[in-house]
Amino acid sequence: MRCGSEKPTMIFMKNHPKFERTLVIIKPDGIQRGLIAEVIKRYEQIGLKLVGIKMMVPTAELIEKHYTLDSEWRVKTGLKSIKAYTDKGLKHPVSNDPLEVTAVVLKKLIEYMTKGPIVAMVWQGAHAVQIVRKLTGGTEPLTSDVGTIRGDFVLDSYSMSDNDHRAVRNLVHASGSVKEANDEITHWFKKDEVFDYKLLNEAILYDFELGGIL
Ligand code: GDP
Ligand code: MG
Repeated sequence: MRCGSEKPTMIFMKNHPKFERTLVIIKPDGIQRGLIAEVIKRYEQIGLKLVGIKMMVPTAELIEKHYTLDSEWRVKTGLKSIKAYTDKGLKHPVSNDPLEVTAVVLKKLIEYMTKGPIVAMVWQGAHAVQIVRKLTGGTEPLTSDVGTIRGDFVLDSYSMSDNDHRAVRNLVHASGSVKEANDEITHWFKKDEVFDYKLLNEAILYDFELGGIL
């Protein structure tokens, strides 16, 4: 919001962290658990602005493309899964090769994410990507911090889900980096489905002086 002063240049304004956007998806288990309002509340109450939202039953193609937009996602996800087992003193049940691990994860993920409606959202605000990841919590609910969405509302684990041949049910997806967020937003939303608008309470979050209260 530009109340208070027009002093900052347009370039400065466009680069301001308050314009950062991120993608969140409430996964099918989040919808079934009746947690739509709770999830939205967590992102809204910190001061982020909802700029796009829709419900759909995704296709397998949409989900596969979503998870492979980042060419390094397969390696990173496999390594993360193997490390989660190593940290518990266990050997990964699928493989020591991250790509083999991710191939199994991706297949299960597609089955999971196409099982029912999801809610896809775009949230905007200062450091949106990092703030949303912090509020969402780590991937494996067993070790997600208390106070996060995944830590507070779900009790799944890699060992249980891998043993049961399914993806970890962790309620929400949240973009992992600014680049991932930009690619994912374009993947899920058309330009005119994301809204540029002012929220009056942004003044208290971002304006550099608090004129006009008294
Ligand atoms: P995120 O960014 O925290 O969601 O995690 P990733 O991008 O690494 O993984 C995407 C999704 O795949 C996760 O949210 C889980 O639903 C699922 N997943 C990731 N790793 C594993 C795994 O090792 N085992 C199983 N069963 N599911 C996994
Ligand atoms: Mg991810």
